[in-house]
Amino acid sequence: MSAEKVTNHVYLIDTKPLGVPQLIGVYLVVGEGKAALIDAGAMTGLRNLLTELRPLLSSNNVRRLFVALTHIHLDHGGAAASLLKTLINEGYDGGILVHPRGVKHVVNPTKLWSSALTVLGEERANAMGKPEPIDPGYVHGVEDGEIIDLGDVKVKAIYTPGHAPHHVAYLVIPDSVAVTGDALAIHHDGKLHPVTPPPFRADLALASIEKIKEERPDVVTVSHYGVLPWRGEEALEKAKSKILQWLNIVENAVRKGLTDPDTVFEIILKEDPEVAEIMAARENNPIFRNSAKTALRGILEYVLTTQKH
Ligand SMILES: [Zn+2]
Repeated sequence: MSAEKVTNHVYLIDTKPLGVPQLIGVYLVVGEGKAALIDAGAMTGLRNLLTELRPLLSSNNVRRLFVALTHIHLDHGGAAASLLKTLINEGYDGGILVHPRGVKHVVNPTKLWSSALTVLGEERANAMGKPEPIDPGYVHGVEDGEIIDLGDVKVKAIYTPGHAPHHVAYLVIPDSVAVTGDALAIHHDGKLHPVTPPPFRADLALASIEKIKEERPDVVTVSHYGVLPWRGEEALEKAKSKILQWLNIVENAVRKGLTDPDTVFEIILKEDPEVAEIMAARENNPIFRNSAKTALRGILEYVLTTQKH
């Protein structure tokens, strides 16, 4: 078992897609007979996830599982339908919760998969795996502020657009853990870089971080990867500063007429030495290949489109 206890009711499970550790983490919140799994990871991590999840569910007498998605990207929601179907076959009860805009894509992932093939390319899409469809009766839209009641522990949904227009973060009460998905950053060993692929909205992302801050979480987690090594507000401020730092670098480049992504990325690598370290640790895996450069492209496109107005 490699599930890590974060707080009283929260576990971090390493889904290890393609067997690779510390790429995609999901968070299990255990209540009284009920649990919420925040994100399910990619299809290629499903087998590992089930291996970690089953003993946690049975030792805590969980019979009902809500799979609450931060968003529908393949590395977060890809395995949700197959996971739930497997557990229902094993006698569990449950459903999938996602932002209302994501419901139809979880029910029928055909369009999601074809756009992944186009946007990510075949190698990266296949490294995550093709999601399965699921009966619409199992998929529910989650509202901003909605509380998932697990008995002695509750999970509050917080709409946090920016990374994606349908992104949702979750606050675990009373553990005071913010599970922020891709609302903040990529994290490796105390270093961060933005997770901002096009079409990224910096204005919304920064407002979303403020919105999470208003909930005053003690512990802050991200999907890629883990529990941030700083407490509460400090963690959120670090993520915000990182987005602002990149925005500033990109705005300066654009002002000098530099708009080619490769050129601007070279400037990022020079001005933010943490990026190369994170890339060396994470990007040899196809799932995250070029993710730093893709993040830069999102910020660059945001700067170029907002400047036109
Ligand atoms: Zn992600």
